[in-house]
Amino acid sequence: MKMADFDVIIVGAGLSGIGAAYHLQDKCPNKSFVILEGREAIGGTWDLFRYPGIRSDSDMHTLGYNFKPWLDDKAIADGPSIRKYVQETAEENGFADQIRFNHLVKDASWDTASATWTVAVEGKEALSCNFLFMCGGYYSYKGGYSPEFPGADRFQGTVIHPQNWPQDLDYSGKRVAIIGSGATAMTLVPAMAKTASHVTMVQRSPTYVVSRPDVDGIANTLRKFLPEKVAYAITRFKNVQMQRLFYNRSRVAPEKVKGQLLKMVRKEIGDETVEKHFTPSYNPWDERLCLIPNADLFDALNENKASVVTDEIDTFTETGLKMKSGEEIDADIIVTATGLNLVVLNDITIRVDEKKIDIADTFSYKGMMFSGVPNLVQTFGYINASWTLRADLTSEYVCRMLNHMDASNTTSATPRLRKEEHNMEARPWIDDFSPGYMARTMHLLPKQGLEDPWRNTQNYALDKKSFRNANMEDGILQFENNLSEDQTGGGQMNAEEKSATAA
Ligand SMILES: Cc1cc2nc3c(=O)[nH]c(=O)nc-3n(C[C@H](O)[C@H](O)[C@H](O)COP(=O)(O)OP(=O)(O)OC[C@H]3O[C@@H](n4cnc5c(N)ncnc54)[C@H](O)[C@@H]3O)c2cc1C
Repeated sequence: MKMADFDVIIVGAGLSGIGAAYHLQDKCPNKSFVILEGREAIGGTWDLFRYPGIRSDSDMHTLGYNFKPWLDDKAIADGPSIRKYVQETAEENGFADQIRFNHLVKDASWDTASATWTVAVEGKEALSCNFLFMCGGYYSYKGGYSPEFPGADRFQGTVIHPQNWPQDLDYSGKRVAIIGSGATAMTLVPAMAKTASHVTMVQRSPTYVVSRPDVDGIANTLRKFLPEKVAYAITRFKNVQMQRLFYNRSRVAPEKVKGQLLKMVRKEIGDETVEKHFTPSYNPWDERLCLIPNADLFDALNENKASVVTDEIDTFTETGLKMKSGEEIDADIIVTATGLNLVVLNDITIRVDEKKIDIADTFSYKGMMFSGVPNLVQTFGYINASWTLRADLTSEYVCRMLNHMDASNTTSATPRLRKEEHNMEARPWIDDFSPGYMARTMHLLPKQGLEDPWRNTQNYALDKKSFRNANMEDGILQFENNLSEDQTGGGQMNAEEKSATAA
């Protein structure tokens, strides 16, 4: 019988996929793997998005990997620096040539009898593996989300979505209207205001903003006196604790946190603007907060290079936007920073023994596997902390699982609901978090239960314990070997043999 081409196929060569490859190589050196990347570039988000000012919102000491110190002075990094960091990780660790670009995965089918996934790739030959590690991010690469605005076709100027930024766009001296109130709009406004004649941020409702320096003084001082890895670990620990304390306080004392956040903004731009444009109706962390590095947005507002309008759009006009209040905003360029389209499992059709799986019918196991689906893990980061904190932990757990399968002479790991859990209460995959892009897609995502391991806690401290230390044999994750002796007896190919066969 045909052996699988690879032990593991990783889908996606962004921050998560490259991190996954590192962990795999480090902790499961006998496993062969390949990374299938749909685009022709490494870096995912940090290669795709090219709008002016593109940067992280999180500090790179927690958005960076746990194994590779972030060494730039700036803790809030621009897109190209993050892409370079991802690329460096693949090159330094010698697996850059294991990435197959232009390999868009469309379909994955599990066959229990042979314990393999057959992975269909658009326009290419299918590949097979024993374990499928999905690291394709959470949103569609086909295009961003743009609601239908009345009168959009009347507008005579240029309309752009930040996910598809024309590199030759010249906006100097132009009037720009940016629709949106999320991280992208908050980044674009000060960046474009540097050369545009004026930038207007048009938002339906306000978002919480917090201004912080883009450098971490403590991190940079520690690096002068301590070895890089030690300094990085201390800064990472500090930032994780700070994020956690702030998030927890927001949940237990939202009014107090709200008061503090608004007070800080008032110091920068005065009471009236804060009341009108920066006081959300929801509590802090019901949606992600927006970072304003070095108060750049406030500077642009104070210098009158930019302004904010908080109102609903009535219609696009020939010359710009008309708001419900009747106010008109003249613009040469309109940027629709209106968000992403979330996709479920990177738009890949999943089949188990020929049965198509509807992910919405499954329960999420530890927020990374799906009930009834063997040997498949998806990396999904935190909504309340840096993505990579969870990506690293997920990879570590996958490595534990693969090593456990080897040690127990099993070939599959499947989370299965116990009998008493078949009618258990289901909650949305993520609780207490309601931005538009999540709300639009929540019904398509797996459910979570009330008890571990069916919860998706969004809690780094809990995940750390559970992913690193919990017993693999918890009675729910079922380790099995369905191969006949003939199938196992012939001896497994080692990693080099498999790569050579599949190349
Ligand atoms: C503008 C922006 C700013 C952000 N800032 C932050 C931040 O500051 N902090 C934070 O924690 N998070 C942030 N995020 C979330 C961000 O996406 C994650 O931090 C992180 O980059 C996700 O990495 P990833 O590798 O999981 O996914 P991605 O970066 O999305 O990469 C996925 C890769 O998989 C490939 N892929 C997808 N589907 C397939 C398929 N079917 N077949 C083959 N390949 C496929 C894609 O082409 C892509 O290269 C931001 C997101 C955006 C859009």
